[in-house]
Amino acid sequence: MASRNENSIRVTVLGSGTCVPSLARSSCSILMHVGDRQLVFDSGPGTMRRLLEAGTDIYRVDYLFYSHFHPDHTAELVPFLFANKYPDPLRRQRPLTIVGGPGLKGFIAGLESVYGHWIQLEAGMVDLVELDEYRPRGLAGEGFTATAVPVAHNPESVAFRIETPSGCSVVYSGDTDYSDQLVGLSRQAGLLICESAVPDEQKVAGHLTPALAGEIAAAAKVQRLMLTHFYPACDDTDMAAQCRRAYQGPLILAEDLMTVMVE
Ligand SMILES: [Zn+2]
Ligand SMILES: [Zn+2]
Repeated sequence: MASRNENSIRVTVLGSGTCVPSLARSSCSILMHVGDRQLVFDSGPGTMRRLLEAGTDIYRVDYLFYSHFHPDHTAELVPFLFANKYPDPLRRQRPLTIVGGPGLKGFIAGLESVYGHWIQLEAGMVDLVELDEYRPRGLAGEGFTATAVPVAHNPESVAFRIETPSGCSVVYSGDTDYSDQLVGLSRQAGLLICESAVPDEQKVAGHLTPALAGEIAAAAKVQRLMLTHFYPACDDTDMAAQCRRAYQGPLILAEDLMTVMVE
């Protein structure tokens, strides 16, 4: 069992939705189990409850990766940090690393200017990693490599690729418009988790549609594609059919608490 874990990434969708309240789709968040590490990508409202529903909790999360700072991707950070200050026995036992694009430290400082010590963990329990260079970032001894590239949404927006030493790989797009950088990052990935916020006929700047996400997946020759970040109009649309205009490979439409193994 242990060796299986070391050669796979288990992806759990915590939130496949958006800023729009939904009982079915919590705001944006993805959980990855990589070896014995737990990585969370974005933490929109509802993420802490979804972690419990997924069989884990905030204290076992080792890494928070932020694609950008929009509230539907970050809003649960404040209650997440505050809850980590709750006393024993639930208390966090190991440090939390928070990773994000340019401006991450200023973003956190802004939150601290509002909430002060309520969200400040004790010394040594939080490490902030602000990406100012987009290069592979080997997190030594952690059993994976994280690589980030800028994508087309906000100035700080990044997509992440997580890869194990055995070559198992998952890419998380965050929010983006069509992006050659995302194509490059996703090259032959085991799974591309790609935003597809609106149907093809409702395209807006800074977001993808099913056909555009399919174009990225096809160009990158990914092994599997998962579409996520669905605004309500997506649930009245045949998103798979629109994606099939550009991509013929294995396709998953994200649902909250869905789990996918990437070998
Ligand atoms: Zn956004
Ligand atoms: Zn978003």
